[in-house]
Amino acid sequence: MSVLSLLLGLIIGSFLNVVIYRLPRDQSLLWPGSSCPHCEQPLKWWHLVPVFSFFWQRGKCAYCGQPISWQYPLVEMTNALLWWQAYSFYGLSSQALFSALLGSWLLVHTVIDWQQRLLLNKVNLAGAVLAVAHIFLNGEPSWTSALIGAFLGGGVLFLIAFLYPAGMGLGDGKMALVMGLWLGWPQVFLALFLASLLGATAGILLGLKKDQIRGMSLPFGPFLAMGTYVVWYWSDRLLNWYWQVML
Ligand SMILES: [Zn+2]
Repeated sequence: MSVLSLLLGLIIGSFLNVVIYRLPRDQSLLWPGSSCPHCEQPLKWWHLVPVFSFFWQRGKCAYCGQPISWQYPLVEMTNALLWWQAYSFYGLSSQALFSALLGSWLLVHTVIDWQQRLLLNKVNLAGAVLAVAHIFLNGEPSWTSALIGAFLGGGVLFLIAFLYPAGMGLGDGKMALVMGLWLGWPQVFLALFLASLLGATAGILLGLKKDQIRGMSLPFGPFLAMGTYVVWYWSDRLLNWYWQVML
């Protein structure tokens, strides 16, 4: 079953690559089939086997020989690990499926925000639909907890975006709102706290080399994603640790 979760993660990861490429360009996810972005040749199924095709073709298009981005196998392998982690943690259960889907949702947000500095409404909407399905089917978190989490989690970032528009976008606020639906209250605050901590650390590390990266601002979405992921799996442990340190 572990191997199956990895394989399923690879196949879903291959679809996520389509989502990541087409959604910001407003293209349909289902039609037409994949083609090479350089020579626009439609690709055959054996060009599209996750990870394997990339290495078999030595990272080049089979038609025009132009390099294929490393992003494709990287997204597929990362998603495979996310799905494997979900299965290892929760076994064969609906909680594992929702955890895997949450991981994929965070991965899509991370890559698009990294490339385009955009947290797309469509991606947020898909995340919200999944989170509501999770509440309905698994009863977690409670509706009260989810709605307070969404209201306060989103609210805090909307407020920051309003006061400091250069540093925070509305997309960040919408993503935090959806994070609240997934994590509930007060877990969403733990995730926002972790995201800020990671973002600030990365900013300081990059700031040390300011001359080389002048004008490069960090997108906040990937840090929100990391915070959400850690809190989803390890919030109990984090809270215990926090209280031990504080008391
Ligand atoms: Zn090509």
